[in-house]
Amino acid sequence: MKILILGNGQLGQMLGKAVIQQGHECVLYSDRLDKVMALGSQQPLAMTLAEANDWADVTTWEHEHLGEELVAKTADKFLLKAERFNGLVDRRTQKALCDELDIPTSAWKAYENVAELTAILESCDHAVVIKSAKGGYDGKGQWRWKPGDEIAAVAEEAGQRPGIVEDMINFTDEVSVVGARSHKGEQRCFPLTLNVHTQGILSYSLAGAEHFSKALEALAKEHHKKLTDALDYVGVLAIEFFVVGEGENQHLLVNEVAPRVHNSGHWTMSGANCDQFNLHIRAITGLPLPDLLIAPTLMVNVIGVAGIPEALWEAAAAECHWYGKDARPGRKVGHVNIMIDSFERGENLASTWADKLQLLAS
Ligand code: ADP
Ligand code: MG
Repeated sequence: MKILILGNGQLGQMLGKAVIQQGHECVLYSDRLDKVMALGSQQPLAMTLAEANDWADVTTWEHEHLGEELVAKTADKFLLKAERFNGLVDRRTQKALCDELDIPTSAWKAYENVAELTAILESCDHAVVIKSAKGGYDGKGQWRWKPGDEIAAVAEEAGQRPGIVEDMINFTDEVSVVGARSHKGEQRCFPLTLNVHTQGILSYSLAGAEHFSKALEALAKEHHKKLTDALDYVGVLAIEFFVVGEGENQHLLVNEVAPRVHNSGHWTMSGANCDQFNLHIRAITGLPLPDLLIAPTLMVNVIGVAGIPEALWEAAAAECHWYGKDARPGRKVGHVNIMIDSFERGENLASTWADKLQLLAS
């Protein structure tokens, strides 16, 4: 099949590798440059977006911030209805969908402008996170506020664009479920992944070490199924959750939904028989989805540093992925997967390597 991938960052490139593995063809569209590119190259092809869309049997995407205009130009080849896609990429409609489907998420209120945000904060008696409705990633487009803090400055800045005010959640862990749904409605989910963030950016993920209860694993899959069935979604979709409560009261609150492959699924490139990229390509090309076999794995993001230490390139248990991007503080430029034998070993390795591999913006 011929596949058009919208976006040509690292997720697009990793999707492209899976396209080749499965015997298909792809081109990638850089929405930043408005150019069509070949896989593994920044050299534009003599092909317009319209031509690439005509050429493709199916169009998929590496990120969801495509904008309604680009979606309108390419949606005839999408496996998701355009209005459902556009609804997922706006935090207001995404949260409303969770509420409608009875999938628990933190309490929230929408605002349109500075005046509405000011009014919400003036009557608010608890800590909140304010998030722009669209375009946020890696903690960008977010503000923290608590009673006693000044309102005017934050409302003036955050209220320039519509957004939501969300209760600050006192979570025990952040986790995600990455899973695929096929045309036939089959579902395959990787096990719950523990995600540790620093300054709103994913620092490391740990998975496959049977750290979470069976009940929590089942709950994540149930929420994933309910959501993807309701959307008639085909492909990989990730849900980020907050783990709240203890013992039998432990449950999951949706933080956000990413209708695509996800950074917290990168560990599957070393820790699964079929990684998230291959799983996505299988789903969108109509192949059966395999049972997933899992090995415990740690994924550490490489952020803002100019290279991966040689010790890691040499280590048998480590697999290094380098995105070929210029290093800037706070920018993800690669990741390292390390096979582990226990959860504790993963946490120890994460604390050894995260500092060396990460330079965040000050
Ligand atoms: P992004 O699109 O940048 O990943 P998120 O909504 O996932 O945006 O927020 C980034 C991080 O900020 C989360 O992973 C979490 O650590 C923290 N965060 C976001 N919302 C809340 C909240 N309501 N309560 C507590 N922490 C939050
Ligand atoms: Mg997030």
